[in-house]
Amino acid sequence: MVSIGPHVHDEDPVPAAVGTKSHVVQFFLGDPQGWADPKFPGGDAGALRDALAAADVRAFIHAPYRINVASTNNRIRIPSRKLLGQQLAAAASIGAQGLIVHGGHVTADADVSEGYENWAKAVARIDRPVPMLIENTAGGDQAMARGLDGVARLWDAIAGAGGPGEVGFCLDTCHAFASGEELSGIVDRVKAVTGRIDLVHCNNSRDEFGSGRDRHAGMEKGTIDPAVLADLIRAAGSPVICETPDPAADIDWLRAHIAGAS
Ligand SMILES: [Zn+2]
Repeated sequence: MVSIGPHVHDEDPVPAAVGTKSHVVQFFLGDPQGWADPKFPGGDAGALRDALAAADVRAFIHAPYRINVASTNNRIRIPSRKLLGQQLAAAASIGAQGLIVHGGHVTADADVSEGYENWAKAVARIDRPVPMLIENTAGGDQAMARGLDGVARLWDAIAGAGGPGEVGFCLDTCHAFASGEELSGIVDRVKAVTGRIDLVHCNNSRDEFGSGRDRHAGMEKGTIDPAVLADLIRAAGSPVICETPDPAADIDWLRAHIAGAS
């Protein structure tokens, strides 16, 4: 059975998840735009862990957006690795199911192959007490995980990198569409590359196919046929998070269109 829940910004995540009758929720541990150490909603990891367990809610943690372990700039790559390790440890301390991190990019003057090598080094070195789920991104010529070609290159680079713990994949539907990937049949095409889809970020897109723009929209408010999104979720069978302006409405819509979803 597919579990569908909201991405939660400032609210307390457990009541927010209970409010949409969700058994899955996603949130940040601290400022998503910053470099600070992880912070827990309510302030205490143990209390949050207990509250999640008591409410039977599984948590996914989204890493801060600044993290870019692909970067060829030491002043970005090294703090990115450090913060990614801290976020993984913090996610584990609340019993989270996984930590989602974007694929990152290199700057225009750098060779993309160096970015993939940097990813391999990061995977080899960073301790993963919970699965680290790499998310596909929407745009940028120098991005590591834009489109399935990028994801395939990234998976080639990190295969055999070793390192402690699992690496998985988070499929964002808006990002895939914006990157120019057809969504019909995409689940099989992704699994042929990564072997797994741990989480779906189910977002419609405000922009056209292949736009490269990352602007999420509600299920019935975007340029993607919402029936295609429902088909994708059925095919993936993974937990689903709506990162949309009104996740409660979108969760209702998806539950009404996907048999057995909760
Ligand atoms: Zn996403």
